Amino acid sequence: MKYADIIVDISHEDLDRTYQYLIPEELKERALLGVQVLVPFGKGNRQIKGYIIGLSDLPKWKEEAIKPITAIAEDTLMIESQLISLAGWMKDNFGSTMNEALKTVLPVKKTVKQKENRVIKAALSGEELQAVLEGEKKKNNKGRVRLLEELLKNPSLDYEWVKNTLNISLSTMKDLEKLGIIHREASVLYRNPVKQPSTVAKSVVLSPSQQEIADDFLKEYHEGIRKTYLLHGVTGSGKTEVYIKIIEEMIKEGKQVIVLIPEISLTYQTVMRFYQKFGDRVSIMNSKLSQGEKYDQYVRAKNGDIDIMIGPRSALFTPFQDLGLIIMDEEHEGSYKSENPPKYHARETAIERARLCGASVILGSATPSLESYKKALEGEYTLYRLSEREGERKMPVIWTVDLREELKARNKSIFSRKLQTLMEERLKRKEQIMLFINRRGYAGFVSCRSCGLVLKCPHCDISLTSHNNGKLVCHYCGYEEEFPDKCPSCGSKYIASFGTGTQKVEEMAKKEFPHARILRMDMDTTKKKGGHEEILSAFANGQADILVGTQMIVKGHDFPRVTLVGILAADLSLYAADFRASERTFQLLTQASGRAGRAELSGEVVIQTYQPEHHSIVYAGKGDYEEFYKREMLYRKLMSYPPASHIMAVLVVSKEEEKGSKASELLTKALKQWEEKEELMEYHVIGPAPARLSKANDIFRFCFYIKEDDYQRLMAAKDFLDGFYRFSDEFQGIAVQFDFDPMNS
Ligand code: ADP
Ligand code: ZN
Ligand code: ZN
Repeated sequence: MKYADIIVDISHEDLDRTYQYLIPEELKERALLGVQVLVPFGKGNRQIKGYIIGLSDLPKWKEEAIKPITAIAEDTLMIESQLISLAGWMKDNFGSTMNEALKTVLPVKKTVKQKENRVIKAALSGEELQAVLEGEKKKNNKGRVRLLEELLKNPSLDYEWVKNTLNISLSTMKDLEKLGIIHREASVLYRNPVKQPSTVAKSVVLSPSQQEIADDFLKEYHEGIRKTYLLHGVTGSGKTEVYIKIIEEMIKEGKQVIVLIPEISLTYQTVMRFYQKFGDRVSIMNSKLSQGEKYDQYVRAKNGDIDIMIGPRSALFTPFQDLGLIIMDEEHEGSYKSENPPKYHARETAIERARLCGASVILGSATPSLESYKKALEGEYTLYRLSEREGERKMPVIWTVDLREELKARNKSIFSRKLQTLMEERLKRKEQIMLFINRRGYAGFVSCRSCGLVLKCPHCDISLTSHNNGKLVCHYCGYEEEFPDKCPSCGSKYIASFGTGTQKVEEMAKKEFPHARILRMDMDTTKKKGGHEEILSAFANGQADILVGTQMIVKGHDFPRVTLVGILAADLSLYAADFRASERTFQLLTQASGRAGRAELSGEVVIQTYQPEHHSIVYAGKGDYEEFYKREMLYRKLMSYPPASHIMAVLVVSKEEEKGSKASELLTKALKQWEEKEELMEYHVIGPAPARLSKANDIFRFCFYIKEDDYQRLMAAKDFLDGFYRFSDEFQGIAVQFDFDPMNS
């Protein structure tokens, strides 16, 4: 490449403000994305530092007018450089603009500056300062002279005044600081978002199998081995205790650690376990923090005031200078995939960040994603297992109830006879119950209450979704059929779109158990700040007998008195219109079951379903991950779905329905023509069709999919389509987004 786009101020909100420079022949090898360089800037051509954020062969100006890069500033990648390289990698691998990628990785100060009191102080005595001043006068360094003269009058100056009134650039100040002439001080109090705990951590002695994992990891780390580990441990097996042990050693050696936890599991209880152990060397990041608070966490991390950052996806970009380890708990969670461009997966991105800075990665889960487990079996990741809970605590007993039998027995209640009996027992014994209903698949698949048949697309094996126009539609390929009036398999007229909400469950429970105290947790009851936490704490403190909720209730908290978990309609997630539906169901059932019997009291779980023979339900019932994995992988291979193959979703978004539809057709056609022209192997294209969410905020969404074994070929298709749409007039006002191996569509 001949030219580099250079950003000179990464703290600026407008990250698009770049300048093009020529890459001199002798720097070609080293001038890479993210590298810090020295460039002449402005009229006086003063030398300033900047970062390379783009490379190209095309000049943006008259070639003579483009100044050359002076030098590479740092060969070793500094923290900003690393994050910028990472942004470049995200842009290439997940499809977005560089600007979108940069905004994801760099903490940009957006809010009005908080009241802060930054000062510039003289670091030398008056005499020494005078001597320096004379020298600078001779060299005619006007800025330095102005500042030194002021400092002689007053050894402590307000930073804003120095910058804006005295007109001294930050780089001048930094240079003087490096020379030991001045120093900058911030009297800002960076806020720690969590109240410090008053209790200390209970001391835990790791079990032999837990200790073995910690030892093995640390031994390899000390040998200089950097790689990715997958810790597959059943719910409650002590994965978190293992993390804490490893972190303790890492920070003793001066390393920093990022702990990723899905937002939904980031409860007070989880966070406290880390705080109790590591005190205020820990910080957290979550969506409830204000922009200012978030920014403060970045500054504290960069200044080395903390060693551990806990948070969801975005915590991955914490600017630690000496990152040793990234832990990703519940690595199978869908929320690790970004829904906005760049639609990155935090797992792959964590592994790339770790590679850039020489850190290791530990992925942890009771139900690993098929992607990770496959890599672990193939040896790309090292597999650790914890297959038992510690101490007296046993895995729960799981009952699977066939709802078709309930209909035959004329039980019209949403509680099966088994669940009803067990609930009565618990209420008598004053133990607690959790009732779980999954809202994910609420989008309306259609099933038969008599035989359990679910209507699916004949081409994609994805559940058809009922639409307002009375038709059933496949969201992958656009296939349509009429809503049947009786079951095509058994002829029963009990065929309908499926759905029960948390509210209905709460009502029913009140009716059947009028004396029970019931709490409900869903999107409605947790809207206000802290609502989520409040309900969970109330339940943990025994203020209710039954907690009804969506998947929100399966994460994060330990409820020692819960001895019964009822999963009212396992089918809801099983038939979500998504190729990952079975996997997600297995995960949800396993996680929900894991809530039962976490303490001395042993637990029972009731799974209600119309499809007890489905492999997700059979193996969740047996707690058999391996068998589930084998069965599900066969299916993915058969249908060429990830991780057996790769799939890229291309989303076309437009304000005008007609235009959006045409644009998606145009893209698939262009791909075909490109294939022919370049004599490429044919791509397997599915669609286009209206997307699952076909209209949102008056914006129309169309989607098509490309299935492909070879990831590189998929990337090439992305690059082609990306270039095609950016340079065609037909795409005015239309956005195209790419999603590799999608999680939610
Ligand atoms: P996971 O993260 O795998 O769900 P946790 O680390 O939360 O499991 O452990 C579940 C419970 O068991 C916690 O209360 C934890 O403190 C306890 N526990 C785990 N390992 C031990 C141990 N070796 N000794 C005592 N308690 C333990
Ligand atoms: Zn039927
Ligand atoms: Zn289809």
